[in-house]
Amino acid sequence: MKIQEADAKKLLLAQGLPVPPYEVARSPAEARAAASRLLHGAGHASQVVIKAQVLVGGRGKAGGVKLASTDDEAEHVADAILGMSIKGIPVRKVLVAPAADIAREYYLAAVLDRAARRILLMGSAEGGVEIEEVAAARPEAIVRVHADPLLGLRDWQARELAFRLGLGAHLKATVAIAKGLVRTMQAYDADLVEINPLAVVRGGGPGGAEEQLVCLDAKVTLDDSALYRHPDHEAMRDPDEEAPADAEARRHDISFIHLDGTIGCMVNGAGLAMTTMDLVKRAGGEPANFLDIGGGAKAERVAAAMRLILDEPKVEAILVNIFGGITRGDEVANGLIEARRMQTRDVAMVVRIVGTNAEEAARLLEAAHFETAASLDEAATKAVAAAQASRA
Ligand code: GDP
Ligand code: MN
Repeated sequence: MKIQEADAKKLLLAQGLPVPPYEVARSPAEARAAASRLLHGAGHASQVVIKAQVLVGGRGKAGGVKLASTDDEAEHVADAILGMSIKGIPVRKVLVAPAADIAREYYLAAVLDRAARRILLMGSAEGGVEIEEVAAARPEAIVRVHADPLLGLRDWQARELAFRLGLGAHLKATVAIAKGLVRTMQAYDADLVEINPLAVVRGGGPGGAEEQLVCLDAKVTLDDSALYRHPDHEAMRDPDEEAPADAEARRHDISFIHLDGTIGCMVNGAGLAMTTMDLVKRAGGEPANFLDIGGGAKAERVAAAMRLILDEPKVEAILVNIFGGITRGDEVANGLIEARRMQTRDVAMVVRIVGTNAEEAARLLEAAHFETAASLDEAATKAVAAAQASRA
């Protein structure tokens, strides 16, 4: 689950990381009020920065990050940003913060390195730029350090990271931030905590001349599979920005991942779903999705799964593979019959149901003239052939 910058910054602040103060505004008037507090309040900011809160990168380039020097200007800029769409997403909120006087920008992120089974810290002295661009053009410019699963990021590792990034003058702060990113990953079961830019900013210290290291931007994604451990994180979900299919799948307790192929798959059990995808590929097809309807699925959930699959216009054939245990074959068959009645377009379907109440399921499917298969291999082959036939 992706969360907005403002929520990500709240998590960083809770872990003691240096994040400049900010407010969230939903209207130009609210933005004006927030700017007014920052410009004329205790901090006496000379400018404010107003930033679109949308769950995509590159807001700066798209014109979604702007500075303002007066209340009027802040309202005006907020009005413009709140009227924008960035990469197709309408901006509904802005973040208002005192504008930082940036001396240098760095990149620092903690990511889950699944291959190494460790948290990986990646840093680059080329902040502000998207890390993929740096990785493509100058991979040697990215510094990488793995945290220990038990000991976390050790001080010496963090110090080495700081020196390699050229942040030796901000050693203490860099060590604290690097370790804080790893802590943030662990505390909230995040799979990404990205600070871009991590900025050296002027002022802030006594006399205003000192340089400081601060997290100017924050991007955090939370591991969906661990969300049950953090019920309070649900409040950070942004319903506006979730793909409709994902929201629908979640409502029905269906694990659904959209893929690029043409064979829609409806399976019960994650392992069986992956096996089914493998066999579709072996039969010469490409799966259009991963879909696990879970255990004990009733007819209604089957019908919802069918709608999700058919919503993808690329789907040319559907393969249903059910191994009845807790899930009853006849329930699934009834769900399929119901779903086909509501089907808005004609797509070939091949059904394999074995296990609990399979005979009953077979009778129902036969009476409804469904194409069935006895083995998974046969089902995959038939589905791929049906997809090819639909193209001819
Ligand atoms: P992103 O483009 O979506 O990653 O949004 P960022 O928050 O990273 O902002 C993009 C760029 O805007 C940064 O790399 C900075 O150069 C600039 N920027 C962001 N905040 C400030 C600020 O407080 N002061 C100044 N001068 N520039 C800022
Ligand atoms: Mn950024």
